[in-house]
Amino acid sequence: MCGIVGYIGKRQAYPIIIKGLKRLEYRGYDSAGVAILNGETRIFKCKGKVSDLEELTKKEDMTGFIGIGHTRWATHGEPNDVNAHPHASMNGHFVIIHNGIIENYSRLKQRLEDRGYIFKSETDTEVLANLIEYIYMKGNVSAEIAVRLALTKVIGAYGIIVICKDEKEQLIAARKGSPLVIGIGDGEYFFASDATPIVEYTHSVIYMNDNNVAVIKNNDLSLKTIHNDTLTPEVHTLDLDIGEIEKGGFDHFMLKEIFEQSRSILDTMRGRVVSDNPEITLGGLYHVMPRLIEAKRIIIIGCGTSWHAGLVGEYLFEEFARIPVEVEYASEFRYRNPVIFKDDVVIAISQSGETADTLAAIKLAKEAGALVLGICNVVGSSIPRETHAGVYTHAGPEIGVASTKAFTAQVTVLAMIAMHLGDKRGTLTKEEYTALIKHLTEIPNKVDKILSKNEEYKEIAALYKNSNNFLYLGRGYYFPVALEGALKLKEISYIHAEGYPAAEMKHGPIALIDEKMPVVVIAVKDNTYDKIVSNIQEVKARKGIVIAIVNEGDTVIKSMADHIMEIPNSDFALAPLLAVIPLQLLSYYIAVMRGCNVDQPRNLAKSVTVE
Ligand code: GLU
Repeated sequence: MCGIVGYIGKRQAYPIIIKGLKRLEYRGYDSAGVAILNGETRIFKCKGKVSDLEELTKKEDMTGFIGIGHTRWATHGEPNDVNAHPHASMNGHFVIIHNGIIENYSRLKQRLEDRGYIFKSETDTEVLANLIEYIYMKGNVSAEIAVRLALTKVIGAYGIIVICKDEKEQLIAARKGSPLVIGIGDGEYFFASDATPIVEYTHSVIYMNDNNVAVIKNNDLSLKTIHNDTLTPEVHTLDLDIGEIEKGGFDHFMLKEIFEQSRSILDTMRGRVVSDNPEITLGGLYHVMPRLIEAKRIIIIGCGTSWHAGLVGEYLFEEFARIPVEVEYASEFRYRNPVIFKDDVVIAISQSGETADTLAAIKLAKEAGALVLGICNVVGSSIPRETHAGVYTHAGPEIGVASTKAFTAQVTVLAMIAMHLGDKRGTLTKEEYTALIKHLTEIPNKVDKILSKNEEYKEIAALYKNSNNFLYLGRGYYFPVALEGALKLKEISYIHAEGYPAAEMKHGPIALIDEKMPVVVIAVKDNTYDKIVSNIQEVKARKGIVIAIVNEGDTVIKSMADHIMEIPNSDFALAPLLAVIPLQLLSYYIAVMRGCNVDQPRNLAKSVTVE
């Protein structure tokens, strides 16, 4: 959370920073700010969005070749002008932007106050700014040394960029726990929380690692640890296209990303699923495959939508590969003193690859000796670098805060791994394996078919956009889909929604049902179809409104439900990839009709880099 951008070079910094902040706004939008160094350092910041910041600076002289910018997701101190970044140190020597949390900030703040420091904001970030300055002035050391020494005193997570007013041709950046990428241009350098602000200027990047400090001085980059050990930067080439991070004619990123799903699922399978000589090859897992095949247990960890994908994974692994699976919230797993065995395989799922709780859980699993795999979307992010092996989802950049195409890509990867393991372990016959591969390759076309019916979903959305509550029900593979449908609705439309296993309805939620309650039932044909038909009857008997997701040609449920959303037939284990699409669109249209900001829902941010 929080997006940070920095520039030092031969161009005007301000336009680069503003454009970069807009790209990073998905990471937080409580406030925005910029500092430009041009002889002196000028700071402009305000509560609200990057567009508010632009308004604020409209009449100002923003020229300068060095600058930093920030878009905030508040952790310490309410979202207001004073708490907005950048923060200056008390005597004005340093200006800093920060993504993360300084956990020992109150102790440090007390010590600085005892030494005469006065604070303007409630943030942990200002404490760091003043700590750096205190060390700089007291120790009479360079800015770089002051930054490094200060960071040795800090507990917590940070991605920071620092300007020192006394050392003008310089930017200092450091990271621990929060992402930071450096773009290397011709006589210019870019810093950003992810590569999207950088890609239109250069494709050469360095992904900073924890405890790294980068200093750009007199057009030269040096990379060190906070303990002053010199590092050799590893330069990577970005595989990202500028078109992928723009809206491309859609009203919102979320809608664009929903409509991209046939392509993103296909891209996720590309080179991995061979259908003429049916086989799945997963290059990223090649060297760990013997251990994976022998796994006694798989533990899947994730947060939010990734956790829902993990639940689908549980059904897939147990069914295809007959390996017991547990699915855990990363935040619970890491603090629970979990039992982890050396022959466990832990699979961490995260779109951004930066989710703080998931990263911490990975470290725990590695310490316990388990094989740890990652399923992530952002290439070069922290989780792929922390895990032993993994599979990228290749969904392309997901900018809408509510995850859509990342979910279907994650489920696609889980299905591929489960099918491959089923084949290798002999728990799937060759015929079953071949049939499943065929079904999987047909998914993208079926997704397109569902998307082509979006006008129907819009009509249903119009009818229930003013509801106060929604219930989502599903069984088996479609229980996680029900959870995901409910999450989509609540996060972007602010309607209270709950997902439940359909059979659990009568243990409580049935009490909520009346003629005002829309109940979305995922009633795809599988081994529990008859049971879910009964559940629909139970809802109807209490006058609930049933919106059912059914297979094409289903006449039984059509005669009972108030509305149906049809999806093409497929293997029922792969149908979550289809059933979730109408739910995404239903949420999207309801949120738009309620006037909500679908791409940037209130209080949320996309890449959850705080715990
Ligand atoms: N802790 C800082 C603040 O509240 C940065 C927040 C973040 O990175 O999410 O301003």
